[in-house]
Amino acid sequence: MYRENVLRIIPGRKPLNYKSILRPVGRVEIDAELCKGCNYCIEFCPNDILEPSGKINTQGYQYPHVPPEKADDCVACGMCERICPELAIRVFDHRYVHVGASK
Ligand code: SF4
Ligand code: SF4
Repeated sequence: MYRENVLRIIPGRKPLNYKSILRPVGRVEIDAELCKGCNYCIEFCPNDILEPSGKINTQGYQYPHVPPEKADDCVACGMCERICPELAIRVFDHRYVHVGASK
């Protein structure tokens, strides 16, 4: 009802066509041996993709990982790559999928 009212009041407005909207998807590669376990990437990922892996590298730091169930949730924003002080993260394989597309 609200939607119909808005469309009546503002005749020029049209609902979004979700089928035409694309969003980026990326893959994240983490060099576990470069990681110092600061967790900046985990804190600043806007989509909460990165998590502590529970594994320790040879220097004794716990490095992050992307859980398999979140692999397609990365929006390739590049924040983790830019914020990592050790240059341990690389975002690659940028592609686009339709919003709401099944994984
Ligand atoms: S590229 Fe962006 S969305 Fe993907 S893991 Fe890094 S910070 Fe998160
Ligand atoms: S920002 Fe870099 S150094 Fe810090 S936890 Fe993430 S991968 Fe490791």
